[in-house]
Amino acid sequence: MTLNLQGFISEKYNKTIQECDNQELYYALLELSKQTSSAKPTNQGKKKVYYISAEFLIGKLLSNNLINLGLYDEVKAQLTEAGKDLIEIESMELEPSLGNGGLGRLAACFLDSIATLGLNGDGVGLNYHFGLFKQVFQDNQQFTEPNEWITDHSWLTKSAVSYQVPFAHFNLTSTLYDIDVPGYKTATKNRLRLFDLDSVDSSIIGQGIDFDKTDILKNLTLFLYPDDSDRQGELLRIFQQYFMVSNAAQLLIDEAIEKGSNLHDLADYAVVQINDTHPSMVIPELIRLLTDRGIDFDEAVSIVKSMTAYTNHTILAEALEKWPLDFLQEVVPHLVPIIEELDRRVKEEVSDSSTYIIDESGRVHMAHMDIHYGYSVNGVAALHTEILKSSELKSFYDLYPEKFNNKTNGITFRRWLMHCNPSLSHYLDSLLGTAYHRDAAQLEEFLNYKEDAAVKEKLESIKTHNKRKLQRFLNQHQGVNINPNSIFDIQIKRLHEYKRQQMNALYVIHKYLDIKAGNIPARPLTVFFGGKAAPAYTIAQDIIHLILCLSELIANDPQVAPHLQVVMVENYNVTAASFLIPAADISEQISLASKEASGTGNMKFMLNGALTLGTEDGANVEIHELVGDENIYVFGQDSQTVIDLYDNQGYVSRDFYEKDAIKPLVDFIVSDEVLALGNAERLERLHNELIVKDWFMTLLDLEDYIAVKEQMLANYEDRDSWLEKVIVNIAKAGFFSSDRTIAQYNEDIWKLS
Ligand SMILES: *Cc1c(COP(=O)(O)O)cnc(C)c1O
Repeated sequence: MTLNLQGFISEKYNKTIQECDNQELYYALLELSKQTSSAKPTNQGKKKVYYISAEFLIGKLLSNNLINLGLYDEVKAQLTEAGKDLIEIESMELEPSLGNGGLGRLAACFLDSIATLGLNGDGVGLNYHFGLFKQVFQDNQQFTEPNEWITDHSWLTKSAVSYQVPFAHFNLTSTLYDIDVPGYKTATKNRLRLFDLDSVDSSIIGQGIDFDKTDILKNLTLFLYPDDSDRQGELLRIFQQYFMVSNAAQLLIDEAIEKGSNLHDLADYAVVQINDTHPSMVIPELIRLLTDRGIDFDEAVSIVKSMTAYTNHTILAEALEKWPLDFLQEVVPHLVPIIEELDRRVKEEVSDSSTYIIDESGRVHMAHMDIHYGYSVNGVAALHTEILKSSELKSFYDLYPEKFNNKTNGITFRRWLMHCNPSLSHYLDSLLGTAYHRDAAQLEEFLNYKEDAAVKEKLESIKTHNKRKLQRFLNQHQGVNINPNSIFDIQIKRLHEYKRQQMNALYVIHKYLDIKAGNIPARPLTVFFGGKAAPAYTIAQDIIHLILCLSELIANDPQVAPHLQVVMVENYNVTAASFLIPAADISEQISLASKEASGTGNMKFMLNGALTLGTEDGANVEIHELVGDENIYVFGQDSQTVIDLYDNQGYVSRDFYEKDAIKPLVDFIVSDEVLALGNAERLERLHNELIVKDWFMTLLDLEDYIAVKEQMLANYEDRDSWLEKVIVNIAKAGFFSSDRTIAQYNEDIWKLS
């Protein structure tokens, strides 16, 4: 297809490309992409997967969609000819924050792969007007603002689909918006289906992201994960979840009937993937809708059992949702008798009370409902699935071993290589051809260049180029300047104690004190952090505060600043990730072993030529197996040791704190220097937390972490050997393509034709 961009622009604006500003060009390209994908037919396969998820962290779509539609190179060339820069134009796009972190980004990668593999499958979720909050820093602390993304021109297309959703005291009428998901150079497209409510009204938002949580008609789809630290907040989450799944269930039934289903055979037309527990109410809702349509209860249960599958994303107990039955009674009373009956049947069959849906305190365990009444339960990395089977969900595994399976997460290479790192991707194209775009396993041929000096030199120059790109981005984004000749050490992910940003901060303190003592490093080091903390999560806020204080302290210290810099990237999101990851040398994956289910950031970094510094956790274990001991830096206690420490309460942080190598680092948090820049209450709370509690065992692994990181920095100086490791990492990353993950979901779970 030949593209005449100037013709398109003339028709729209009656101007030349040169005469347009970036905003106009963005709107024109948005329209061009939407027109091109809307001309494609939707996938007509008989059976369809409905991937229901509270989150879809899709990121900006312009470049990605142009790549998938096969328009990118043409558009870029024609813009360049007119003196325009696609990166600048793309910066006009507002990033939707329809997700929180890895789980939501996974859902977005999966949509890309489902479409690219030509499978019939849509994502179904909610059209949050502001998504997750936008993070801003002030006084070295995090503040929250609404993240606007919907303007007159957006990727959303309003559909004619609308449903009635019944609640205790009113019915709501939904509106469905679609976002097209073009696969990579495919003939058909899939869609992301986002349900919304017309009466939602942003004028109820007050200070920051505060609003009246009881005003459901106005607040229902304003925010993702509204504060649930009080009863009204929990009720609002139940309203959101039920609105999502009732719409999804009505949609899938309608679409099946349209294709000829008599509902008895619904499972031949639809399969539901329940992404984490948020969509779990789809099970009783489908049973309700089927019985309303004349199917008897037993048959409805067995239909639903044969068409719902659950993905578990975490072993953190607090993340497995348990709703008080009386909260459900208050919001969705019509589901309560169904859930009670499902629970009664479990209690009749099963003696192990730890698997009951409704526990003794009247709380409904959503995951338990998913496992009893679905046909598949999967974990998201090999180690994670093993931990589910052997401990977290052992009683369920004993009941239903055949339901359990592993699906190691993946990432789409279209976004996380071709879009974010065009220099590397074009270079790989020139060496290996383009077959790896669709068959990522073919990247392994890059191993042939392990000892090729010219390839290493080129990789070095690509990395430097990407560091300069990040330098420009950060300058515009938050006015900081970074040194592109330093080592880039990057930890970007949600702020959580189990991910242990605090351990990295203690390393920074170690390095700072070391430089103050006269030990000047061979090369400057820049330590990047990025991540949002849940507003109600105090310790996570305290950790951000410490990092920002350290950043300021070091920047203002002329003795240290030339050798060490700390950058906390504001409002970490997909856009920031796509500048940070291609520039990284060191990928920080330092979670407490057993706590990170998989991670996907680890995969993105590896693919872009960073080496992993990590614990034997999540998919790090599989990275380690693939690249071998020589090509990864592993430290810390293993998952079994950690699980045993929890079981026998064997970890006492104070014993570690008292060590000579650790005490000065922890105490520096409340030193005069840091207190002068920060908030004493926050710093003292964090200091105390590490000494008396340290629930995620930071101090357990700290010494080993520092030693291995120092070794890694020393090894960086042997460029030849470092670049050989880089080549092995890139070459072995093919396994982590989400195309592989989705092919496995389809083969083992969905069985779409
Ligand atoms: C990949 C990604 C994540 C997940 O990162 P982890 O290190 O696996 O936790 C979170 N947020 C964004 C924006 C991402 O792109």
